[in-house]
Amino acid sequence: MSEPTVFTRILNGEIPGDIVAETDRVFAITDINPQARVHVLVIPKTQEYRDVAELAAGDPTLLAELVEVAKSVAADTAGGEFRLIFNTGAGAGQTVFHVHAHVLAGDLEEKSLID
Ligand code: AMP
Repeated sequence: MSEPTVFTRILNGEIPGDIVAETDRVFAITDINPQARVHVLVIPKTQEYRDVAELAAGDPTLLAELVEVAKSVAADTAGGEFRLIFNTGAGAGQTVFHVHAHVLAGDLEEKSLID
């Protein structure tokens, strides 16, 4: 059994986190270092998938649930339009190897697509 990730520890209440949405298999937290007015991470409760490629191969239904929660968060906070980012691999900026979607919404017009 691998060590709990920072996201698992937030889910378990071991460290503080701002949980803004939750379903049976997915939860969402406010990013501690926001890059947009709305910056929420949508995360499977299981940490068995390290990145979105593993998740897509292993449980595509769970990936679809992540997208549903992302849509719902954006609908509640930013009129329903959003950018969804999965950093995949350390070289692409991934730092937490427990798959998570970055939902960026609100005030995005000045931001580059790939910054
Ligand atoms: P990534 O670099 O794609 O793996 O994204 C990891 C994200 O987790 C970063 O945007 C961090 O700001 C965020 N993060 C790390 N620790 C915490 C925490 N304790 N609470 C909320 N967000 C966090």
